Amino acid sequence: MIKESTLSVDTAMLREELGAGDYYLGKVTAGQTFRILDIEGNQAADTLFYCADNIAERYSATDTIREQGNVYLTAGSVLRSNENRAMLEIVADTCGRHDTLGGACATESNTVRYDLEKRCMHACRDSWMLAIAEKPEYGLSKRDISHNINFFMNVPITEAGGLTFADGISAAGKYVELKALVDVYVLISNCPQLNNPCNAYNPTPIEYLVWDAA
Ligand SMILES: [Zn+2]
Repeated sequence: MIKESTLSVDTAMLREELGAGDYYLGKVTAGQTFRILDIEGNQAADTLFYCADNIAERYSATDTIREQGNVYLTAGSVLRSNENRAMLEIVADTCGRHDTLGGACATESNTVRYDLEKRCMHACRDSWMLAIAEKPEYGLSKRDISHNINFFMNVPITEAGGLTFADGISAAGKYVELKALVDVYVLISNCPQLNNPCNAYNPTPIEYLVWDAA
């Protein structure tokens, strides 16, 4: 569902541009809103969320999909934890649909999906590991890397129930905005993927913006 934001970029308390292959780990407190902006279009932002008061409680695709009765994420979607707690709500979305089934790229999956020689290419799972290694104060480790959201990525389901990785439906300037319902850690990998048509084989920067509670 397309829904425009009411927030102005001029009032954002944080603006950070993440280049292709770059990553971000930070905290958002309950009531704050953040936006992920697809600056040039067709980028994928592979994202994980954790409850700040207990990192063992984190975003769960299965709980989210079951409770909303839909496999796609868009405005109105409530993102739930593995304890079925409402963690975040998508409050604005100008892309219209986001994937939470396709998983993140890894050096291993790149070799299976594309070619053995892709093994050495930078992947989202590496970016997440770099982010948590640089900020040990968050207490995250490799075991905390679980199923994620691929913002802006288009993974349509066929009539037979199959997953397809299709060309992106995002475009330059499209964004998704989420309001935190509890204190959350946000872990983003701006996908460096060069093999997947989701970003038109051209990884580009995204911007991360945060607003304080109104
Ligand atoms: Zn990726």
